[in-house]
Amino acid sequence: MVDGPDATLDPEDWKDIRAIGHRMLDDMFDHLEGIRARPVWQQMPAEARDSLRAPLPRAPGSLEEAYRTLQDSVIPYTVGNPHPGFMGWVHGAGTPVGMLAEMIAGGLNANVGGRNQAPVEVEHQVSTWMASLFGFPANARGVFVTGTSIANFMGVVVARTAALGRDVREQGLAAHAGLRAYASVEAHGCIAKAMDMAGFGTDALRSVRVDAAGRMDLIELAAQVAADRANGLRPFLVVASAGTVNTGAIDPLAALADFAREHAMWLHVDGAYGALGMLAPDVAPLLGGIERADSIAFDFHKWGQVPYDAGYFMARDGDRMLDAFAAPASYLQRAGRGLAAGTAWPCDVGPDLSRGFRALKTWLTFQVYGADAIGRSISATCALARRLAERIAAEPELELAAPVTLNVVCFRYVCDDERRIEHINREIVLTLYDEGRVAPSATTLGGHYAIRAAIVNHRTGQADIDALVDAVLAAGRRLS
Ligand SMILES: *Cc1c(COP(=O)(O)O)cnc(C)c1O
Repeated sequence: MVDGPDATLDPEDWKDIRAIGHRMLDDMFDHLEGIRARPVWQQMPAEARDSLRAPLPRAPGSLEEAYRTLQDSVIPYTVGNPHPGFMGWVHGAGTPVGMLAEMIAGGLNANVGGRNQAPVEVEHQVSTWMASLFGFPANARGVFVTGTSIANFMGVVVARTAALGRDVREQGLAAHAGLRAYASVEAHGCIAKAMDMAGFGTDALRSVRVDAAGRMDLIELAAQVAADRANGLRPFLVVASAGTVNTGAIDPLAALADFAREHAMWLHVDGAYGALGMLAPDVAPLLGGIERADSIAFDFHKWGQVPYDAGYFMARDGDRMLDAFAAPASYLQRAGRGLAAGTAWPCDVGPDLSRGFRALKTWLTFQVYGADAIGRSISATCALARRLAERIAAEPELELAAPVTLNVVCFRYVCDDERRIEHINREIVLTLYDEGRVAPSATTLGGHYAIRAAIVNHRTGQADIDALVDAVLAAGRRLS
């Protein structure tokens, strides 16, 4: 034993932790390799819940025992998105390489708020890749955040500072009543939340009607902007969706870019999952115009298959991010060389100071699988969605509830007893969860309940799609 601090948390002898650590790693590989054999989801039993409820441990416990608790009470009862039968919500599956990156990032425990270190370089490399993927200029900047909810919030804040100037950061919004933002009725709920958190209030967000394909109606947008202007209000931001959460619709991005320029408004694109469609040759053309956005929010943890969490914000003019977020602080002074060297640290371009090494799992994912393989899995999920739509069209007991643009398929079971259709579809979804083979989610479209299959997972295949249709039909027939 070497002389060490009295209160260190390191083991005296690393042999035991090394042994159990290797076992954990093997167990997690087994977990992923054997994922198809297990249910997508299962209800956490009361005993498992109870085993987690205990007072704050004061004294040391055994890692062996704690691991057993994890194996018995936690690992079997997660939401199930790595499973090929998971089609609920828009969740990515993760990969074994991403898992390894998380382990390395945990071991390094780098605080990537800034400073002169390689992890900042890795994050910078990902930014460069993304600027080139989205056709953004060399002065674009990007930064990792938890998810698109926060990235969209950043979009609102950056657009605000761009519209009002940096003084708004000292003065607040009190002197600037009347700013208005616009998004379609199909926009994700986090846009309204961002308006709320940014101090505008949700009433300052206008909801614009959509066409039959779920895309923002430009005539209605123009009318709302004109009416607001006429009333002395100040339109400053359009939020376009590139892949709506309900149906995967993509707003007309090029036309919105024209509109925003003409009206001196900021165009922010919520491309939470859809934006990475740029990696897929058959999806990228649908995103035409995204290269003209002022900012884009998206997630690597959805279609990018990077483990949670890995959200991303980028602005075509990176200095706008500095305007919105850089703050002088004596303890964050920069030096010409050494550990505190460097300009424009990640903490200068986003809301976070301390932040983990999210860039690593993203970098390693691209490094190992290659962008084309991610693109192919994106294309494959869209192809599966089209095949699912075809099967639905061929089954008299099923009806498609929305057109399929990308990878989201909304449908319902129908029968003669129309009053019971909603009830039956709700019960079908619950039955599927209990059965554990496939797990769709649900939504409401035009006031009607619909089963929603969001196919995001690189592990999902035709057999899983068939299992979904078969299970819905079987449950529907039993219930009707
Ligand atoms: C998932 C999603 C969001 C929210 O992203 P998080 O990463 O969950 O915060 C926002 N918009 C759309 C269209 C989404 O699909």
